[in-house]
Amino acid sequence: MLAENINFGFKPVNTMLVITILGLVCWCFVLWCESKKDGFNTLKFFDLIFTSTLLSGVAFYLLSKLIGWYVIFKPSNPLLRLDRELLFGFIVLVLSVVPIFFYTRKWKWSAFRILDIYSLGFSIILMFLSAGKFLIYSQKEYLILFILLLTLYLFVFRYRGYRLMSGLIFSIFLTFLAVVGSVLFRKDGYLLFYLILVTMSVSNLYLRGKKTMARTLIPDNFVAGLKQKLIKKERSLEKTQQQLVREDPYLQQGRDTDNAEVMDEVTEDTGKSITDARMGIVKKIRIQVKRALTAIKLGKYGICEVCGKSIDRARLTAYPEAMTCISCATDISQMEEVRE
Ligand SMILES: [Zn+2]
Repeated sequence: MLAENINFGFKPVNTMLVITILGLVCWCFVLWCESKKDGFNTLKFFDLIFTSTLLSGVAFYLLSKLIGWYVIFKPSNPLLRLDRELLFGFIVLVLSVVPIFFYTRKWKWSAFRILDIYSLGFSIILMFLSAGKFLIYSQKEYLILFILLLTLYLFVFRYRGYRLMSGLIFSIFLTFLAVVGSVLFRKDGYLLFYLILVTMSVSNLYLRGKKTMARTLIPDNFVAGLKQKLIKKERSLEKTQQQLVREDPYLQQGRDTDNAEVMDEVTEDTGKSITDARMGIVKKIRIQVKRALTAIKLGKYGICEVCGKSIDRARLTAYPEAMTCISCATDISQMEEVRE
């Protein structure tokens, strides 16, 4: 369906390369969206994405040079017996994950949450690559891979952070790759790669479990008190929201006929932007309150969603909807100041 090369008018360009670049853009976008949703400092997160992309890009380049050299000078090297596609995919996956461990230490972030976000990015880029491969070479394995990845994305990854414990997504993703890969792509040396993936998945789960055990839990009666506060807050926010909808000048009846004067329009627009701003704040707090209530239900309440440490009790008493500890929250608000 697609040609192997696209002609942009000057020089034919490899179609797969174009698709890879599109996939990379999407991968950055997904990582950015998801990290923002999780409350990570976006600027710092960009440093991480940049380092990951750079490191895996350099590794990709060096590895292809090395293989080129082996083909000519050492054709019997065992590395050449492995399937290139699997080898490169594996190296890129592993090396783009490495910077996470340095940065999470430096910024005291939870590595598990970031690995989860990365899994989402990986599955997007793999969707691009498999769709491209299918459209160019019509191999149905790639179509199946694409459909499975999409299903995984829509049905499993959507629940990230709500119904699934952090760190689980990365393990699910690695196991998915190993299982799907060993059914669909039995290329040279595949067992080696898929075994490493499963090992990574299991160790991730093991480390995650260990961390959960180690954390200090907040007493139940303390949480119960805050839960009541949150429910009350949610109700009053709902009322405020309804009130704001009623006050919205654009929703007032008869606005089309009454607005003859320019001055009226101006007053109305000013009123509109104030209502909108208030509405925005109310909605934002409501979402936070709902998330805090979900966290209570899941037994994850009081744990910072950025760094994974427990949130100070005084902070929780003052802001029961707090989902981040004070130092992570300071990071986020600094970030917002920069943006404004
Ligand atoms: Zn924190």
